[in-house]
Amino acid sequence: MIYLDNAATTKVNQDVLEAMLPYFSLQFANPSASHHFGLEAKKAVEKAREYCAELIGADPSEIIFTSGGTESDNTAIFNVPENRHIISSMAEHHAVLNPCKKIEELGRCVTALSPGENGDVSASAIESALEEDTALVSVMTANNEIGTITDIKSIGILCRSRNILLHTDAVQAFGHIPIDVNDMKIDLLSASGHKLGAPKGVGLLYVRKGVRISPYLYGGGQEQGLRSGTLNVPSIVGLGEAARLSRLHMSERSGAETELRDYLISRVLSEISGARLNGSRESRLPGNAHFTIPGVNGAEIMEILSGNEIYISTGSACSSSNSRPSHVLTAIGMSAAEARSSIRVTLNYENTREEIDIFIQKLKEYVEALRDLQ
Ligand code: PLP
Repeated sequence: MIYLDNAATTKVNQDVLEAMLPYFSLQFANPSASHHFGLEAKKAVEKAREYCAELIGADPSEIIFTSGGTESDNTAIFNVPENRHIISSMAEHHAVLNPCKKIEELGRCVTALSPGENGDVSASAIESALEEDTALVSVMTANNEIGTITDIKSIGILCRSRNILLHTDAVQAFGHIPIDVNDMKIDLLSASGHKLGAPKGVGLLYVRKGVRISPYLYGGGQEQGLRSGTLNVPSIVGLGEAARLSRLHMSERSGAETELRDYLISRVLSEISGARLNGSRESRLPGNAHFTIPGVNGAEIMEILSGNEIYISTGSACSSSNSRPSHVLTAIGMSAAEARSSIRVTLNYENTREEIDIFIQKLKEYVEALRDLQ
């Protein structure tokens, strides 16, 4: 099979899997237990916390382990106090958009900015939307559909100067591009294991020291009382190992992905007439390519390729079950028809040029056959 849907999820890295395995069996203790066996598990959790913190320039005490990006985003958004204002963007993931909708129903005021044509929002657009009572700005570090990287640092400088908290959904960026929470003046950051070679169902919320957040789950008081529940030790160890490996190999991995991505983009744009690249050309996730091919149906391409064991996506995996056109593509000004003629191809450093060649060959066969019929 040829797997080109790495923004949806990644395979668990072999070294990550091996680091996790002992914590299912030999070292299965509850890290909250105060006997020696429990302390060994706790040590592994704290090592993982260090690795995650190092990847983003944070202090380990600022890392709260969660069940993934959705929980981290919800925790950050529901933290907005009653009667206060929040600014976000229409191109955010549903894990931000839907909690924003919910808190609006509960009495907060939400401004969802229209993104620019590349899908990101600028510091000046945010500045114009600020209100006296703005408590939080939530904008993603990189878009999960079209791959555009937001200038978070400029937004962070603005927010810090106005005493407004900045939350960023870094689920697609964490481990893939450099992030420094201090330099970028980030207060809250969401990340998820399964986008960087760790398992599904584990993630983290970075909470800058001094920022007060309310727990989302109440119980035994784990994670400084901010996220109760017995820790998922094997997955946390996996996330830590994936973070350590990402930090160690980021430049070579992203270099390989960028080279392959640019090869893919240039071939698609030159060999498929009418094809357009969506998202920023320069400020783009290393592994993301997203195209509109007028006159074709993205879902049909996906299905046909799937029959050949080539896996891509029509947009974002989380919304591909509904037939509505992608909210990101319509937010950047595409018509519903253009949005439906779009595909997302997301690479990993393990993909090869041969795989890209096979994908392009199949894509061309499909588009040419379709156009012959028209
Ligand atoms: N935010 C973004 C940008 C994502 O791409 C995803 C997953 O696709 C999520 C949040 C949700 O993360 P999780 O699947 O860990 O809940």
